Amino acid sequence: MGAKSHYNDVLKERNLKATKHRFAILEALENCKIPVTAEDLYIKLKRDGISISLSTVYRCLETLHKKGIVIKSNIPDYNKAVFEYNHNEHRHHMICIKCHKMQPVNGCPLEEFEKFIESKFDFTVKGHNLEVYGYCSGCGSKETASNYSCCPERNEGS
Ligand SMILES: [Zn+2]
Ligand SMILES: [Zn+2]
Repeated sequence: MGAKSHYNDVLKERNLKATKHRFAILEALENCKIPVTAEDLYIKLKRDGISISLSTVYRCLETLHKKGIVIKSNIPDYNKAVFEYNHNEHRHHMICIKCHKMQPVNGCPLEEFEKFIESKFDFTVKGHNLEVYGYCSGCGSKETASNYSCCPERNEGS
């Protein structure tokens, strides 16, 4: 009950009607610790026994995104957008270039850099973006394993 009234306030503040689909989407998004695609969210909602169509999920996410309740990010080179609940925290992301998983990183290393830019260039900084690319723990270890197993030169003696 407590969580639901919290979403009620969030929706009311933005002049959105508090529908049960919006509740379900916000609750599911907040429970996902990482940003998810609309399809992933749809599968999760179905699994939780919520009757909703994929197009409704898309439509709700777009509305929530336009109102700033949900953050939408596009992963470069991957034709999909991911969504996460907007906790109004400043954070950065690590993006796996193999499985396209996007994980949030708390904290910001650029505060000092912003101050440096402001004083050096007399530029008023209003924000920044920083995304870090690479391999997540799952994909990184697979990559290393396959590298070790392919050593063609070693096969000559046998
Ligand atoms: Zn990965
Ligand atoms: Zn930052």
